[in-house]
Amino acid sequence: MVFIEISNLSKQFEDITALDSVTFSVAKGEILGILGPSGCGKTTILRIILGLLSPTNGDIRFEGKSILKIPAELRNFGYIPQNLALFPHLTVYQNIAFGLNAKKWEKALIIEKVESLLELFELEQQENKLPHEISGGQQQRVALARALAPEPTLLLMDEPLSSLDTTLSFHLRWEVRKIIKTTTTTAIFVTHNPEEAISICDRLVLMEAGQTIQTISSKEVFKSPASIKVFQILGKSNIFPVINDKTDDTGAKLLQTSLGTLPHPNFTPDRPILGCWIPEADISLKNEEPNLNNNLQITGELLGIVWGRINHRLIFQLPDNTQIAVQLPSTQTSLPDIGEEVPLNISHEKIRWF
Ligand code: ADP
Ligand code: MG
Repeated sequence: MVFIEISNLSKQFEDITALDSVTFSVAKGEILGILGPSGCGKTTILRIILGLLSPTNGDIRFEGKSILKIPAELRNFGYIPQNLALFPHLTVYQNIAFGLNAKKWEKALIIEKVESLLELFELEQQENKLPHEISGGQQQRVALARALAPEPTLLLMDEPLSSLDTTLSFHLRWEVRKIIKTTTTTAIFVTHNPEEAISICDRLVLMEAGQTIQTISSKEVFKSPASIKVFQILGKSNIFPVINDKTDDTGAKLLQTSLGTLPHPNFTPDRPILGCWIPEADISLKNEEPNLNNNLQITGELLGIVWGRINHRLIFQLPDNTQIAVQLPSTQTSLPDIGEEVPLNISHEKIRWF
């Protein structure tokens, strides 16, 4: 059953269209991700769902009934804003208890609830500390515990991991997902980080400039992109859109991309070819002479190297200023110099058309 239904939601701030007819739904118990670059309207959606902002158009239905006329404080939705917004003068314990006191829960129930959350989040040792006396990861846990305490029917999270360092936010991903699932909370998780969204969420709404580009399960996201924009939102490298296409004398399809004009091996006219993807590990640095396998050979100028423990990533610029990344095992010792023009070799079978 559809739990929350967002339909044709639009929001206009004077001449800025923050949301343009956004539609999606959330099932009970699901973690839905909203993924898109900064400014695409993610926070605006959350603020409208919370009741802090009215939409210009559209509706939000909760179990079939519109909630637009219900004031924010009666919606019973939990919220973790981007900056966490812990109360600085309240202890960890008092922060978690805050919503329960506001709702006038019975004292014994408040104690029971807060203690069970302190245990769940392993915060027992921190309960009397102030937010500035605990680490960033612990603050994030307190924010999550505080939002979950009043047992919200829906939990809304606005980039809650984005202020943490990479290692910590990576570890907390799994913790956030596990806790939302063990408490059987329905949640909307907003982020601009594709990996984070895919790791935490069951399904994703991909957004760009106030519009929904595609809604898709996290497992399927790379398999059936609706458009080239999907790859751009997902931040995949080595995506080359088709600029133009033509058919040669033999009826074969030729697709023009930044890599040159390439033949499509098994083109069927049932859907347009949007572009191609070349996995970084499927590009080699040497031209084969002679080119016996009829490989694609292009020249790139080395811009920089991302040194890694297992692999290095070499970033090249192509003549039309697009970039291509090449992954090499870090055991490879002789690498080109920055600025060097390097021949790149790609087997046609490795080019994945979509
Ligand atoms: P995101 O959270 O994806 O970064 P936002 O929802 O914060 O994006 O903003 C979407 C767009 O709406 C942006 O162009 C932003 O500048 C604009 N915007 C957001 N809030 C307001 C506001 N209160 N007044 C005017 N413009 C706003
Ligand atoms: Mg935002």
